[in-house]
Amino acid sequence: MAVDSVLSSPLGPPACEKDAKALQFIEEMTRNADAVQQRVLDEILTRNSQTEYLKRFKLDGVSDRETFKSRIPVVTYEDLQPEIQRIANGDRSPILSAHPISEFLTSSGTSAGERKLMPTIKEELDRRQLLYSLLMPVMNLYVPGLDKGKGLYFLFIKSETKTPGGLLARPVLTSYYKSEHFKSRPHDPYNVYTSPNEAILCADSFQSMYTQMLCGLYEREQVLRLGAVFASGLVRAIRFLQLHWPQLAHDIRTGTLNPQITNLSLCERMGKLMRPNPELADFVAGECCKENWEGIITRIWPKTKYLDVIVTGAMAQYIPTLDYYSGGLPKACTMYAASECYFGLNLNPMCKPSEVSYTIMPNMGYFEFLLHDSTTTNSSPTNLVDLVDVEVGKEYELVITTYAGLYRYRVGDILRVTGFHNSAPQFHFVRRKNVLLSIDSDKTDEAELQKAVENASKLLREFNTSVVEYTSYADTKTIPGHYVIYWELLMKDLKNSPSDEVLNKCCLAMEESLNTVYRQGRVACNSIGPLEIRVVKNGTFEELMDYAISRGASINQYKVPRCVNFAPILELLDSRVMSSHFSPSLPQWTPERRR
Ligand code: AMP
Repeated sequence: MAVDSVLSSPLGPPACEKDAKALQFIEEMTRNADAVQQRVLDEILTRNSQTEYLKRFKLDGVSDRETFKSRIPVVTYEDLQPEIQRIANGDRSPILSAHPISEFLTSSGTSAGERKLMPTIKEELDRRQLLYSLLMPVMNLYVPGLDKGKGLYFLFIKSETKTPGGLLARPVLTSYYKSEHFKSRPHDPYNVYTSPNEAILCADSFQSMYTQMLCGLYEREQVLRLGAVFASGLVRAIRFLQLHWPQLAHDIRTGTLNPQITNLSLCERMGKLMRPNPELADFVAGECCKENWEGIITRIWPKTKYLDVIVTGAMAQYIPTLDYYSGGLPKACTMYAASECYFGLNLNPMCKPSEVSYTIMPNMGYFEFLLHDSTTTNSSPTNLVDLVDVEVGKEYELVITTYAGLYRYRVGDILRVTGFHNSAPQFHFVRRKNVLLSIDSDKTDEAELQKAVENASKLLREFNTSVVEYTSYADTKTIPGHYVIYWELLMKDLKNSPSDEVLNKCCLAMEESLNTVYRQGRVACNSIGPLEIRVVKNGTFEELMDYAISRGASINQYKVPRCVNFAPILELLDSRVMSSHFSPSLPQWTPERRR
């Protein structure tokens, strides 16, 4: 049978027989979204009927939606913390899930400054793998010939720890890259990477990045797509090339490996790949020594058809930088996922970033949607609708029930419905709730920023100085990006004002107060630059208010925005800066949890 007659769907025609199956699967799932959701809920509730959690709410093995919704509360991470802590401490009884919790996935969302611990079970790996397996068949519909070359992907693992009860706790991608699903993946011409597993699996971020870049340079003619999970990671890789190209070119010229690469299995693997190539070394050095790096990606990797990188949500701030380095290559946002559960994929991955919509796959978990009213802070949990009942144009918070034992759990993402593929809705990622500042995967909320300012301003007390107003800005014009905090100070004793050194220490004190993901980004991943405090002239924040009022804000309701990114406001603030200060050293960070 001809491949395209297998599938008569809006997603066709597939590139090969294997793709046809994947596209067929997407069609089936999205056509029968409601029935699939019913089945998923039934499976989750039936298999977990004897768990302590479901018994507590007297579900009594019933698995219909109405009973489920009337008895099980909508919860946040904080509500589940006692159960999660017991599991972390070694209680192996079926608390949330009938299947044993295989490990915890550490979310980049934090609770009391520490990464949230998301329980997972072994079979979830299969579900994640299934979603990954759908990505290339969709991409092949839009970009032909991806089997004729390779992908240069900058992929990294992060540190892992053990909970007191002995369960591993690590980020979901670390868990995936270390799994046999990834390490022993069968050869697939559509999914060949330039980075060897040894490079991806090297825990030292410098050695990992260096060798992935080196391999990418060696295979520059084969690279058809270039990516990282998030845009921040790809921008960092380009910055890395800017800083390290002389050594990289030296290694290529001589066929010898930088002595800073000490990981044994990585050295062994690189030894097999490396050979002297003076011509390539001259080319790399010739391009990289130019002052102008505009379009560097397509100059070095001329066959690149698109960047495979998430630029939705907080990552949209990197679009201009990526456009500059790539000469405006398409940026494909292929999937939407979290530690709690992988959600869905983009069925039109070559669309413009502003038009990206993710189709939630109804087989991944049971999904409900809490109507989000942006005018009030509290959405009422009675306003929950099912996947197929969301309405185009409305915004919702995602609420999930997973095979691993989260029931009606609020993820914290706000999504807007843009349309439907068959009966499955498609969502634009609007934002994550309560995130003020984000550079990489860090998420700093208003309360954390407030606490950090309070802690830092304690250093000013002995100078009779206080912070009267502050606001913040995620500056991604520097690479890596960094937090900028604008301070207006009240100095009561001008003869004893705080010195530069004291204000530098305030920067560090703020960093020490920020959550573990921020500090890990500073210390281990080098994905966030030193925090900066800009002291502005007295009266600046009053001018800010005048400006807001001139644009229609009400005087009575005006509140100082704790984060700004509107260009005229930033210009106003920057024009009033009297001094600027940077963190003089790294904050403390270890992989161990503080509690
Ligand atoms: P984590 O908890 O660290 O696994 O991060 C998951 C979160 O990252 C999600 O809940 C979203 O807020 C964000 N995220 C994941 N995928 C995307 C995407 N494609 N676009 C925007 N944000 C995303």
